[in-house]
This record gives sequence, C-alpha cells and structure tokens, in this order.
Amino acid sequence: MPHHGEMVPISIPLDKRRLSVLTSRTCRERTKSGEQCRQSPLRDRDACFWHDPEHAETAAEARRLGGLRRRKEGTIAGAYDFQGLESIPEIRRLVEIVVTDALSMENSIARGRLLIAGAQAAAELLEVGELETRVEALETTLTPRLVKPARRR
Ligand SMILES: [Zn+2]
Repeated sequence: MPHHGEMVPISIPLDKRRLSVLTSRTCRERTKSGEQCRQSPLRDRDACFWHDPEHAETAAEARRLGGLRRRKEGTIAGAYDFQGLESIPEIRRLVEIVVTDALSMENSIARGRLLIAGAQAAAELLEVGELETRVEALETTLTPRLVKPARRR
C-alpha cells in the first residue's frame, strides 16, 4: 500500500487490484443511523478515527468541540446578522461589522488602517456590484435581440 501522500505518476495506469486496495477499505463500524461508515480506517486498524476504540476519548472530545463551535458560530452569526460570504450584500455586511467595531475602538494607527482597509473593500464591492447590475441590464436588453433571429427559422 502506498504511503500517505506518496505521489503516483499519472502516466502509470492503476491496475484493478491496486485500485481496489485504494478504494475498498472502509471502516467496519456503522453510523448512528445504522448505515455502514464510509470513512477510511486508520492505518493497520479496522475502524476510522471516529469509531476506533483506541481513539474514543479523543473522538468524543473532537465531537463535543465541533458541536460547541457550530453552536457558537450560529449564535454569533445571528447576533451580527451575518449570513456568509456568498453574495455582495453578505460580504458588505462583514465589512460593515468590521468598520463599525473599528469606529468604536480607541484611536490608533491600527484603527486608522483598519478603517481605510474597510473603506477600500467597500469601494471594491460597490464597483463589482455596479458592474454586476450593468451586466444584468445589458443582458436584459440584448437577450431578446439575440434570441429573435433563431426564432425566425
Ligand atoms: Zn467509522
């Protein structure tokens, strides 16, 4: 079995036997819902990190911390009305939070830099948002014209 992280040159085809070694080993345990666990077992073990009795304590602690972190993340996101970074308004919300917090800080060079960085980020978002609006407007105007010749056929 290749060492973890070992590079396999792409030009060498993987024979079926080797491929099955790479793909068939899964954890022998079942998940809470009764399905076969799909995690890879630990090296020289039959179970994955989450199911190996040897790591039960560590895994329990990791689960607990993961749950705490998710709950904390949800609470903070709610308190700040922060949804994520997937759209311009969402990203803008983060900049607003940072800038608002910076404004309430005591004046310092770091605060000044933070405010300027926030202003720059906001300006960039305005630009990108404006471009997006203009592209949408162009598409709305042009799409019927581009579609027409095809319809005439
Ligand atoms: Zn498992």
